[in-house]
Amino acid sequence: MTLAYITHPDCLRHEMGPGHPECPERLRAIEDRLAAAGIIDWLRHIEAPEAPLGALQHAHNALDLAELDAAQPRSGYAHLDPDTYMNAYTLRAAKRAAGALVRAVDGVMAGEFERAFCAVRPPGHHATRGEAMGFCFYSNAAVGVLHALEQHGLARVALVDFDVHHGNGSENILAGDERVLMVSTFQHPLYPASGIDPLGFNMVNVPLPPYSDGSALRGAVTRDWLPALERFQPQLIVISAGFDAHRDDDMSQLLWTESDYAWVTEQIVEVAREHAHGRVVSTLEGGYDLPSLSRSVLAHIKVLGGFV
Ligand SMILES: [Zn+2]
Repeated sequence: MTLAYITHPDCLRHEMGPGHPECPERLRAIEDRLAAAGIIDWLRHIEAPEAPLGALQHAHNALDLAELDAAQPRSGYAHLDPDTYMNAYTLRAAKRAAGALVRAVDGVMAGEFERAFCAVRPPGHHATRGEAMGFCFYSNAAVGVLHALEQHGLARVALVDFDVHHGNGSENILAGDERVLMVSTFQHPLYPASGIDPLGFNMVNVPLPPYSDGSALRGAVTRDWLPALERFQPQLIVISAGFDAHRDDDMSQLLWTESDYAWVTEQIVEVAREHAHGRVVSTLEGGYDLPSLSRSVLAHIKVLGGFV
């Protein structure tokens, strides 16, 4: 089993000012933890290319992409919403982040590696077809899903989102597409306050109340996700892997632990083994408490790579 680890130094150059939780140190903490655990040398390291314009246009409107290009400042910050800023390197980082998904999908489809983890930022799952928001610029996971469908001719791709926030951007882009099944859990109420009423027949949205622990996740996966995934029989599974539901992460009030992230990853890998030749492409979304983020990513990667 080969697990690709796809990232790029450009992903460290996008930053949104001192004290912003979505910071370059997130990626450094992850890499440091993987090194300390002795896992880093077992991964296939790949530099993320910039996503081709055509891949971005599967998920986003051409005019809105051009507007985003025009908004990037030469210095300082451009504010897109109260929490989402661009610096001079933002779009370069965002193109690498979306490009990591394209590269990951190409690699698993070619049999170059079986699974991939994209250690990238900015995250993506709040970016809608026409709008950057919630720390997100391009909808990385949706770009990967649509690349697999459009360029590799797959008929069924599943997107699994366990970030603590609802993946409103992915839903906005993928709702109603019968080639896609999206299953997710998220805290409600919480930003961005969507997800209670699914936008399409292909959305399995499971809101969880504040202070839910890992047993709520396990219940949702067993009761709601797995039967839908079994019926759908995905040929590839993409994961929006956010780790901000961890009990140490003050971005939310959920109480998950590393073992919950390992468990949910096992369930996803099992479905992939049964239906998708084991193919899983995972990409980093949220997770802002650096110690628990890096420990949780380690737990996730150990399962993805079969290192347990
Ligand atoms: Zn999140």
